[in-house]
Amino acid sequence: MTKIIAYDSTLRDGAQAQGISFSVEDKLKIVQKLDELGIGYIEAGNPGSNPKDLEFFERVGGLQLKNAKIIAFGSTRKVGINAAEDKNLQSLLRANTAAVAIFGKSWDYQVTHILRTTLEENMAMIGDTIRFLKQQGKEVVFDAEHFFDGYKANAEYAMQSLQAAAEAGADVLCLCDTNGGTFPDEIFTVTQKVIARFKVQVGIHCHNDCEMAVANSVAAVQAGAVQVQGTINGIGERCGNANLCSIIPNLQLKLGLSCIPAENMAHLTSAARFVNEVANVTFNDKAPYVGNDAFSHKGGMHIDAVSKNPISYEHISPEQVGNVRHILVSEVAGRSALLAKINAVDPTLNKDSPDTKRILDHLKALEHEGYQFESAESSFELLIYKLLGRHKPFFGLAEYQVVIHEPAKNGVNSTATIKIAVDGTEETTDADGDGPVNALDNAMRKALERFYPAIKEIKLTDYKVRVLDSDKATAAKVRVLIESTDQKESWTTIGVSTDVIDASWRALTDSVEYKLMRDSL
Ligand SMILES: [Zn+2]
Repeated sequence: MTKIIAYDSTLRDGAQAQGISFSVEDKLKIVQKLDELGIGYIEAGNPGSNPKDLEFFERVGGLQLKNAKIIAFGSTRKVGINAAEDKNLQSLLRANTAAVAIFGKSWDYQVTHILRTTLEENMAMIGDTIRFLKQQGKEVVFDAEHFFDGYKANAEYAMQSLQAAAEAGADVLCLCDTNGGTFPDEIFTVTQKVIARFKVQVGIHCHNDCEMAVANSVAAVQAGAVQVQGTINGIGERCGNANLCSIIPNLQLKLGLSCIPAENMAHLTSAARFVNEVANVTFNDKAPYVGNDAFSHKGGMHIDAVSKNPISYEHISPEQVGNVRHILVSEVAGRSALLAKINAVDPTLNKDSPDTKRILDHLKALEHEGYQFESAESSFELLIYKLLGRHKPFFGLAEYQVVIHEPAKNGVNSTATIKIAVDGTEETTDADGDGPVNALDNAMRKALERFYPAIKEIKLTDYKVRVLDSDKATAAKVRVLIESTDQKESWTTIGVSTDVIDASWRALTDSVEYKLMRDSL
């Protein structure tokens, strides 16, 4: 199998995205995760432009990495000085990595109008910088910035920039579609021309401004590129970078090339979610391969077909990338979908069993009340367990009380008092919070933690409120959806009530019950 090097730039190019900021700790955690996934190169920062990165490079040296090489990123030397005197290159060396990536200009316009130097000096900057780094024993990736735009404007100059890098000893010539405006056919043709001219390995670095970054990266690999740069979930400035979470399975599962160890492909989904979690970015449910909806089926006919044979509506099996199939629960879904859910709890039930009918009737009644389980499967699973008499509640509520006091003090305006019982032992606690639901959540956790320490693992990641019958104004019903995670799994629960605190309470208790139930199975 042809080996393609997966080169991740989440921590460098990805970190330039709006709203993304990684602490040193975050970066170390992500490096470990990507190494476990089997990523070959991790471009982790620019020590010249960001002093925080130097601390990171000091500490990353202490990690025992199995697969990944760490790359420090920098630019060619400044105009008119020696490479050895360049402060940024000195910082780059202080990062103490075996490999570095250097970006340089390959578009004549950028040289004369942005860098404002001569075309010759730019060539000297590329050559000097790479020669200097090679003398220091570094493996060097040359990122030819704006290569494709440069090629269109002045093909010979763009090629000469690669020539300068290759002659100076660059190990990889990486062609960058920096502005993200190039189409796959152009990428393919130009990459092929580069490969025909140079003996050095060629890489590809694409941005997603035309939503072509994944297609462009794949096209470059099909033309012969062997290093593919991108970020996890396509995190990056503007419209993002090429998304490695799509590129890797595309290359490996569809084209039969090898990017990461085959046995690690099943970790792709969890790695994707982990990075977004650390980056504090909402996960895109529609993401191919790794998104929540990537293998979700709702329409009755689709579900029927998928339960007969998954290939009817799935291009790969979700397990291959560590994702799961979701059969969405609703009246629309039809009986076979619901039966699949019910069978996951009790495989002996069939569509004519009285228990199945009872569950369906109950579901209909709840949907009529405003429940909607297709986005709250965990509540539905819990409901099946309850209706089949297989769920013993982990705790009982005696009462709760929430007091709101305005103006808030230090961002805290609510206090909740809660009395619960676990196996006959009562516990009363109170807790403050930013809003009544937060106070209630805090109080419930505090009360339950001594009985169930695993509750500390639960983190609420999303809280949505929807008003159902808005013509009733403040007396309207509300639907609350809560998404929780314990790092291993995420789940969504639901509560409906005319009172937003009560609806939240229902969703919160389902979340805790679900977690404890899963842990006990
Ligand atoms: Zn970039």
